[in-house]
Amino acid sequence: MTTHSTRMLILGSGPAGLSAAIYGARAGMRPIVVQGIQPGGQLMTTTDVENYPGFRDVIQGPWLMEEMQAQAEHVGTRLMYDTIVEVDLSKRPFRLIGDSGDVFEGDTLVIATGAQAKWLGLDSETALQGKGVSACATCDGFFYRGKKVAVIGGGNTAVEEALYLTNHSPDVTLIHRRDSLRAEKILQDRLFANEKIGVLWNKAVERFVDGGGTAGLVAIELRDTVTGELSTLDVEGGFVAIGHHPATELFRGHVALDKDGYIEVETGSTRTNIPGVFACGDVMDKVYRQAVTAAGTGCMAALDAERWLAEVEFEMAEAAE
Ligand code: FAD
Ligand code: NAP
Repeated sequence: MTTHSTRMLILGSGPAGLSAAIYGARAGMRPIVVQGIQPGGQLMTTTDVENYPGFRDVIQGPWLMEEMQAQAEHVGTRLMYDTIVEVDLSKRPFRLIGDSGDVFEGDTLVIATGAQAKWLGLDSETALQGKGVSACATCDGFFYRGKKVAVIGGGNTAVEEALYLTNHSPDVTLIHRRDSLRAEKILQDRLFANEKIGVLWNKAVERFVDGGGTAGLVAIELRDTVTGELSTLDVEGGFVAIGHHPATELFRGHVALDKDGYIEVETGSTRTNIPGVFACGDVMDKVYRQAVTAAGTGCMAALDAERWLAEVEFEMAEAAE
């Protein structure tokens, strides 16, 4: 068992964690990033990224994350291949234990453990991910310009994604398993007023239909949840928008979470309810969930942590005089 100590301990190596590391390292915090089971985060699972600023041509998600990682290391970040399984935030330095048995101690802690989209759990859905089936309209909607698409779900995310997709598609169908939406009324009003959007009520996805060869998704087979009747909807894009799981189980009972399990932060900052613990990226953001917003809040977390520690150390020095 080895103990690793740092002024800034960062959990997660997606855009949020690595951006925090770049800023933390440049502020002399000698950060440690514990990478978790998905080094590089969610963008490692995608191909084309067209909306991360700074690149006129399409870039690849894994390439972007390798560059971010190299940049973080270049300025002095220590990257660790471990996954945190236990936390003790009751005193400082905060003490966290990795899967390997190693102990990580941080004067400050930045939580950037991200969130994962919920999927329907169908084999055809897994097979067609990246070939017509997606869980992020903001990320992939642009690739379906002029094509018929569908969104599955009835919450705020589904309605927002359907509305967003009308920027690209003339024909968007919202598929919901019940006969009423749980999305906020104002969003519902906008949805129903939009002529490009149709709603299919009481429908569950049976199967995403593969057109074979390079065609990808060509249709969605639906089952009526009331009558059991089967039908088919021809679409080239299917966006699953049934919620996300923030990776916060580890922090339950240690840091304040909201009703959906996201880490609560003070408005306009990354401060959690525990002094010295900060959260950034998808783990605290259920609205935007983008690489650039994750990177932005990662920067905020490093600045918040550095300033907080400087203040604490100044007060301690004054008290000691
Ligand atoms: P994540 O990227 O989710 O990273 C979380 C990190 O935390 C991982 O490294 C993981 O290993 C680590 N971790 C988790 N638990 C632990 C633990 N216990 N101990 C240590 N580490 C832990 N956004 C865009 O802006 N443009 C796009 O084109 C785009 N395309 C996408 C395509 C796909 C298929 C997906 C899934 C997402 C896409 N997104 C896109 C969204 C974007 O990837 C996320 O918004 C972004 O990655 C969130 O960054 P994050 O750093 O908060 O979390
Ligand atoms: P959500 O509110 O949990 O809604 C998920 C939707 O998906 C529900 O309509 C649910 O159906 C449906 N669903 C769940 N599992 C399904 C399955 N297996 N098959 C078919 N449908 C399924 O999730 P969300 O929309 O992602 O929102 C999460 C939280 O973030 C909410 O608090 C929301 O208000 C918030 N949010 C806010 C904003 C904003 O403020 N602009 C934007 C996005 C999200 P049922 O209705 O039948 O359960």
